[in-house]
Amino acid sequence: MSVAVGIQDEHERTMAFAEVALAQIKSLRQGAMPRNYEIWYVYATGYNAALNQVINETLARNGKLSDSDLEQIYDSYLSHGRTTDRIDKIGARVVNEIDDVMTLITDTLGVTASFGDNLQGASHKLSLSDDRDQVKAIVERLVTSTREMQSANSALEERLSKSKLEINNLQVSLEAIRAESLTDPLTGLGNRKHFDRAIGEAVRHAATTSEPLSLLMLDIDHFKSFNDNYGHLTGDQVLRLVGLSLKQSIKGQDITARYGGEEFAVVLPNTPLRQAIIVADNIRRMVMSKELKKKSTGEILGRVTLSAGVSALRPNEDCDALIDRADGCLYAAKRNGRNRVICETDPEFLGIDQIQVA
Ligand code: GH3
Ligand code: MG
Ligand code: MG
Repeated sequence: MSVAVGIQDEHERTMAFAEVALAQIKSLRQGAMPRNYEIWYVYATGYNAALNQVINETLARNGKLSDSDLEQIYDSYLSHGRTTDRIDKIGARVVNEIDDVMTLITDTLGVTASFGDNLQGASHKLSLSDDRDQVKAIVERLVTSTREMQSANSALEERLSKSKLEINNLQVSLEAIRAESLTDPLTGLGNRKHFDRAIGEAVRHAATTSEPLSLLMLDIDHFKSFNDNYGHLTGDQVLRLVGLSLKQSIKGQDITARYGGEEFAVVLPNTPLRQAIIVADNIRRMVMSKELKKKSTGEILGRVTLSAGVSALRPNEDCDALIDRADGCLYAAKRNGRNRVICETDPEFLGIDQIQVA
């Protein structure tokens, strides 16, 4: 049942992007070929901020996108933007770099070896010769081969320092790809893979240092009906807004991630439960305080709220147990009316009946 709902949601969201893409192609009277469709589809998702910016700027300047604009945008922001393409290119550059340097090292080794031979030959000839001109010729040959070796060495030195620069550039490119592979494109927060790694590290660190560690799981309330009422594209804007509130509420070593569709997680190293509850409530209040307004029409969309669950690491516990408890608390927050924070010591989570005063 929930899988079917998920597929239906995905269908609606992608259809909304497709409609925006086709509407743009129509209104700008462009060819509806895959390249243009891809550009406008990505534009509609808003996942590629740089692409949206260049399109908006070009449209503001020229009122249209020419075929060469589209080609340039595609080349700069899409075809090269694919992670696998970029990794392949970096791989090829590394292989070329190693090939070049290896060839030069082999050549230099050859020059060094023949210098050694020359030196040995010369020393043998010198021991046999007592003629002044002969000695002079031997020394001249030695000077020449010494120069050859010096120049081979300095060529190698120069190439190695170029290589060092190239390797630095490659490291920067790889780091950018790594960061991108751990980022959720919609919100700019860490993605699920980032979260899985970060919580693993945080739990190991807390276990060795005995520092406290807390976890928040947050989920937007009734987000399905928000999407149904205002459309998935507006829903996506709300996800961005929640992401921004999360970023604004944390500091230092705290880690925020989009855990799944409209669910977020915050890992709070060196933070006891009591403080983690405060952070969760700050996030909840910050999101609730924002009145949502559609920029294009000025239509007031109301507010969204969040429910949150908070857990703290116990001795000898692994990540899964910590996540399960935060998730259980989140579920209790939903069950108890939403727009609230429940932590692992609250009776709503522990299942203790509330005492009613008659
Ligand atoms: P609850 O208060 O119990 O959490 O209700 P809910 O409607 O938020 O929860 P439910 O799990 O039924 O629905 C989650 C909805 O979140 C489904 C989908 O419409 C929306 N959603 C998930 N991922 C995305 C996304 O990337 N973009 C948009 N716009 N909506 C998303
Ligand atoms: Mg929800
Ligand atoms: Mg959910």
